[in-house]
Amino acid sequence: MTHSSPSIIPYTGVKDSLTWFALPILITIPLCVFSYCIAAFGTGRGIGMAAVCTFVLWFLFEWIIPYRRDWSKRTDQQLYNNLFHITLSITGRIGLQQWFKVVVFVVISDVLIAHDVHHIFMVWPDQWPAIVQIMLCVFLAEGLNYGRHRLLHAVRWLWPIHALHHTVDRLHALKGGNTHIIEAASGVFIVAAPLILIGCPGDIFVWYGAVNMVFPTHANIRMTLPSFVHYLVVTPAVHYLHHSKNMTYGNGNYASVLPVWDILFGTYYHPDHHHYDTIGVEDDRMPNHLMGQLLSPFTWYRLKKPEV
Ligand SMILES: [Zn+2]
Repeated sequence: MTHSSPSIIPYTGVKDSLTWFALPILITIPLCVFSYCIAAFGTGRGIGMAAVCTFVLWFLFEWIIPYRRDWSKRTDQQLYNNLFHITLSITGRIGLQQWFKVVVFVVISDVLIAHDVHHIFMVWPDQWPAIVQIMLCVFLAEGLNYGRHRLLHAVRWLWPIHALHHTVDRLHALKGGNTHIIEAASGVFIVAAPLILIGCPGDIFVWYGAVNMVFPTHANIRMTLPSFVHYLVVTPAVHYLHHSKNMTYGNGNYASVLPVWDILFGTYYHPDHHHYDTIGVEDDRMPNHLMGQLLSPFTWYRLKKPEV
């Protein structure tokens, strides 16, 4: 992405070479760790080890080849609030997913079986090779996630749920998970639930969670990539446009992993042809304090825009 901002750091030599390898390293190493640990220690530890590996690599690369100086974690006033929202969202989502599987799925399955219609819904091709099932799962989950994300932007009363994620003045490793707990919960019902209900096995769906987690879409890492890569996967440059204050781009590039859904629905912007100005939202009413942020989905339109 060409950009003239003085905050963009130029690199030469070894660091410049590293900008070419950053994305493949950041995606493949945590996924290899996940693949090994899930087989050796089970799903819970597998995703935990992959998360640790992901964050260690992001922090390391943000330290060695940061993209922008003004997106530093060191000067970020919201860092501890971000950590709180990440922890709450992850634990909330895991708890809700377990509850959903144990309670709702069992109840719904019982009803379907009682009416002898469960075979109509259980259409998942579980006889296909695992790798093909994982690819299908990622593709379908991304489609559902695209719809969920687009609704959060398009529906006025849903936007306050998503606003916490967008009212940031910088992007880095701790901004991706900075979502309101209600938004995190929405993913369980809109993305996980439909796939589980059509019979997608939990050990296949967990791969979508892993793939989604390892993509460094919010990381402040300088990457040099051939133009076509931005069409294949959601790169940081693609996702930076989504966080632009310019709502033409803000209401686009909704995908988390596969831009194909944005391309299909005409909401894709390629970072080589479109350039963002600043990160955030014009109508930023988000309080700086934690309690105000937690209440913001209910108070957003009553909150006053802070004086600049
Ligand atoms: Zn968004």
